[in-house]
Amino acid sequence: LGQNFAKAFTVQYQTAAGGLEYVWNTSWGVTTRMIGGLVMSHGDDHGLVCPPRLAPVQVVIVPIWKSEEERGQVLGVGGQVKSDLDGAGIRVEVDTRDTMKPGAKYFEWEAKGVPLRLELGPRDLAAGQVMMARRTGGKAPAKLEALATVVKATLDEIQTALFRAAKERREAHTIRGVTKPQFIEFMKNAGGFAYGEFCGSPECEAEIKQQTAATVRLLPDPEFRSPPKEAPKTCMWCGRPSVAEAVWAQAY
Ligand SMILES: [Zn+2]
Repeated sequence: LGQNFAKAFTVQYQTAAGGLEYVWNTSWGVTTRMIGGLVMSHGDDHGLVCPPRLAPVQVVIVPIWKSEEERGQVLGVGGQVKSDLDGAGIRVEVDTRDTMKPGAKYFEWEAKGVPLRLELGPRDLAAGQVMMARRTGGKAPAKLEALATVVKATLDEIQTALFRAAKERREAHTIRGVTKPQFIEFMKNAGGFAYGEFCGSPECEAEIKQQTAATVRLLPDPEFRSPPKEAPKTCMWCGRPSVAEAVWAQAY
């Protein structure tokens, strides 16, 4: 969108040199709809599951203590771990609240979708380790030494696994290279995304909507298209030459 809107609404930023410049707009804004997509794609019965790359807090450290002496020790090491992780570019918080039990803290951070929790109690300290719990399941000790490297690798693993699972889930609800009878059946039953060749005619589109309640969601970019076939491409509905592969679904 260039600087048109910035000039119309005087949206400026301070440059490195200290002057003011109009911002450059793109048209693909991050909206509440995108946040909704994130919640629905990755969340589970315990709440949000935030992919590490998007998580405002990637790691939470929960120190565990009973006595005042233990409190001093675990908070000291907890603070050290935080600064190590900070230094490695990881977004990390220490939950030092003394008004809540550790279990309640775990529950709260889980609901917020924080990908990784580090539990640090006196016994862990003695063993030179933390307990590392993944939001996506699984808990294992990790040595305090070189912890940042392990945390980084674990966050990458979680990111990759969430992405793969989301993609698999999408494909499990997708039918590609759909024929007219398959399309009707698909929309009558579970529904999902149907990829099919389309002639582009408004009449054809209206007929499909009227008979199946499905409408075109989008025309996919090359990286999302189905693998090409040898046969001449014809509209999955009317059989006339196709102009594009379209993705159909029912809105609800
Ligand atoms: Zn058609």
